[in-house]
Amino acid sequence: MKIRKFLRHKSASQKHSLWLTQAYIDGKWLDAANGAKFEVRNPANLEVIGSVPDMTVDEAQRAIDAATKAFYAPEWKFITARERSQLLKNWYGLIAQHGAELADIITAECGKPLSESREEVAYGSSFVEWFAEEARRIDGQIIASSMANQEILILRDPIGVVGLITPWNFPMALVLRKAAAALASGCTVVAKPSEDTPLTSLALAKLSEWAGIPAGVFNVITSNTAPPIGELFCSSPLVNGISFTGSTEVGKHLFRQSAGLLKRVSLELGGNAPFIVFETADIAESVKGAMVSKFRNSGQTCVSSNRFYVHSCIYDTFVEQLKAQVEALKIGPGQDKEVQIGPLINAAQLKRIESFMKDARQRHTRILCGGKQLADKGPLFYAPTIITDVDRTARIYREEVFGPVIVLAKFETEDEVVRRANNSLRGLAGYFYSQDLQQVFRVARQLEVGMVGVNVGLMSQAEAPFGGIKESGIGREGSHYGVDEFTEVKYICLGGLKYD
Ligand code: ADP
Repeated sequence: MKIRKFLRHKSASQKHSLWLTQAYIDGKWLDAANGAKFEVRNPANLEVIGSVPDMTVDEAQRAIDAATKAFYAPEWKFITARERSQLLKNWYGLIAQHGAELADIITAECGKPLSESREEVAYGSSFVEWFAEEARRIDGQIIASSMANQEILILRDPIGVVGLITPWNFPMALVLRKAAAALASGCTVVAKPSEDTPLTSLALAKLSEWAGIPAGVFNVITSNTAPPIGELFCSSPLVNGISFTGSTEVGKHLFRQSAGLLKRVSLELGGNAPFIVFETADIAESVKGAMVSKFRNSGQTCVSSNRFYVHSCIYDTFVEQLKAQVEALKIGPGQDKEVQIGPLINAAQLKRIESFMKDARQRHTRILCGGKQLADKGPLFYAPTIITDVDRTARIYREEVFGPVIVLAKFETEDEVVRRANNSLRGLAGYFYSQDLQQVFRVARQLEVGMVGVNVGLMSQAEAPFGGIKESGIGREGSHYGVDEFTEVKYICLGGLKYD
């Protein structure tokens, strides 16, 4: 197939820097109309690494208008699924080609170790690759009608313009997981990244431009004041769907705001993942799983394990091995090669963890290691911590820590631990280690979460549906379910057919 001229990507070997400080609306690189900017800082040392436009609802409206125009433009609406797929492949190729620079940007603005940023580039771009493939298989159906002279045709239509709001902990992967599915479905996008990490999204926008994705199809606006923009996304009849990842509180707020227009809303919110180690578990493996599940991005991920339950008969061995590994973690700025634990994202996050720990201390919690800020490393570092004997009313036990703190508890029976694990309003991820096949099925079925990791501490991948139940959200991202959030089922009844 010949790719139409306007779809060819501009140049696969652009040499421009991806450190950009203007927003991207309708294929143009823009400042805020009033000239306002806000600073982006490296959380490892709080140095300013860039200033980006502090846009208002006026620019958000402009981006929505551009996305609406682009949605109906023949260059987007009438291209084939194969051409859409090709554009996403172009984008994927460019992201891979510029992976090292993208990883530097992620580490600079989000603080995670460079090795994790590289993993995020691979993980994030895998959604673009996956949805480039899925774009060609968003199929309809023909259903047998009960009427002799009719056919029932089912089409999958794109929902239209989608507003994306994303957090700072995966500045690349969360934008791409949403945007790639939306574009594969034929939607157009206005993305509003976190005020802490806007630079990665701007770099992705530049690569989308080079990839040949038409003007207005993928827009990125930057702003230091999210609420009015969120309100506009929810109240504008031109925005057909909202896809949000972030706190449960803001997710609920957006859901309420979208009720007026019965808007499509998909929400990936906070978790409170249990991590259970049964008596048959391979202890070394479970410690390895605990480390990766807890300490990735300094514990600042929504699928991080939050409540650790270890069977009493292996508890001491597990704790001894875990403590040795936690104490060996290398802490420092993400740019340093050996570093495994970077800073927290901002002062609010540090304050939150300190207040959790203060509350825990007042309830006679035992601190096995850590439990303090590491001011000598930088303003936002917190020591990897293990605490035990935690009162079940402690905030750190009930709420998502979102930091490098392991909360350990003993249990005696399977029934007891499943009840304790499910005793949460959240239901995103859950993990357990067991070599007992019967128990594996029993417990996996009983855990009230959207995703279960069995003998594994890290399970996210493009092929699998990511999402939660209860207050952890609505909808699924990635996998072939991912396009459901961005498509409508349309029924066409074809009548008057003469078959005899
Ligand atoms: P986190 O605690 O992970 O920063 P938030 O839910 O506060 O989670 O932020 C996630 C994203 O939501 C960010 O892009 C932020 O700017 C945006 N946001 C925060 N408050 C609102 C709001 N009221 N309406 C819309 N977006 C918001």
